[in-house]
Amino acid sequence: MNILVTGGAGYIGSHCCAQLIAAGHRPFILDNFSNAKLAVVDHIERVAGTRPRWLRGDVRDAALVTALLRDEGIEAVIHFVGLKAVGESVQQPLAYYDNNVQGSLVLLQAMRETGVRTLVFSSSATVYSASDRMPLREDAPTSATSPYGRSKLMVEHVLADLAAADPAMSLTALRYFNPVGAHPSGLLGEDPEGPLNNLMPFLAQVAVGRRNQLAVFGNDYPTPDGTGVRDYIHVLDLADGHLAALNHAHGRPGLHVFNLGSGQGHSVLALIAAFGQACGRELPYTIAPRRAGDLAAYWADPAKAERMLGWRVRRSLAEMCADTWHWQSTHPNGYSS
Ligand code: NAD
Ligand code: UDP
Repeated sequence: MNILVTGGAGYIGSHCCAQLIAAGHRPFILDNFSNAKLAVVDHIERVAGTRPRWLRGDVRDAALVTALLRDEGIEAVIHFVGLKAVGESVQQPLAYYDNNVQGSLVLLQAMRETGVRTLVFSSSATVYSASDRMPLREDAPTSATSPYGRSKLMVEHVLADLAAADPAMSLTALRYFNPVGAHPSGLLGEDPEGPLNNLMPFLAQVAVGRRNQLAVFGNDYPTPDGTGVRDYIHVLDLADGHLAALNHAHGRPGLHVFNLGSGQGHSVLALIAAFGQACGRELPYTIAPRRAGDLAAYWADPAKAERMLGWRVRRSLAEMCADTWHWQSTHPNGYSS
């Protein structure tokens, strides 16, 4: 299939493009490179053996997106575009609603105009309400506590309304848990700019010597070792989940919602230990206060995706750390090195 991949030069999108090509699809990347390097396209080509078509452009540019969908014979869209830092979204809510919500509206409108009926959307586990009932199933209550989370939930509501109004559309929201890891070739990985928010990239930078030590945000949570527990998922398993979702969407109009997670929780200390094993030395850390807004523990119930998509994770926490370390140690400064 010809597949438009918005945000396809980003962390998850680039891995997904490599897997799409490997499966015989033809991804077309639309990315404004606000959070990606041009070199990513070369790296996808080296990994996959085929250069994806690509265009620098903004998903909010209605004329551009409509022309692309029409002229490139696009049959389905995977929509990765989004700003994704929770803290930044509190400071800059309008930028988040503009990019994440308005960008999705422009894309959906262009799809309607051009008769492209299949969309796979990057949602997030952050749409679930705080709860002690684990694991989280797709029918658990939703609510959001940040503009970022609300932007994802708003788009899910738009998809539900559109699926009800237009019985020809097949709209899938994939709720990612914590994507980590890198392509085992060492050629694709996460290359964050600006302040680091997430645990795995921070650990990788400590391991490679770009940071002195990790601050563990709280060790007094009601979890087995007191540190936060999350459901980490290898980015290639996540990418494979998109392929499974596309196959499922074919000929199945309506709204489809799936968790993409492993179903297993790991603590911050467990991740530090696993990364230490991968890089061959103990990583230094200190205990710091809790981070505002963090929950103690949550993980996915991935049973629906396994049942309906025939998909489940195949890669372990040790592989997530080993592949991150391979990428980080061979590219200490990301795509610039
Ligand atoms: P990313 O920032 O690496 O990728 C997003 C890509 O979109 C970047 O390449 C960026 O340049 C591009 N982009 C941003 N705004 C654009 C615009 N208006 N027009 C065209 N291109 C634009 O992020 P990622 O980690 O790959 O995440 C992809 C999606 O998954 C996002 O929607 C994010 O909210 C969602 N998600 C990510 C995580 C995570 O932990 N990484 C977790 C849950 C959900
Ligand atoms: N975390 C931490 N130190 C950091 C970054 C994160 O202890 O420098 C913890 C955080 O409190 C949470 C877990 O690691 O328990 C995962 O955090 P991340 O920001 O990666 O993902 P999210 O909060 O979105 O689940």
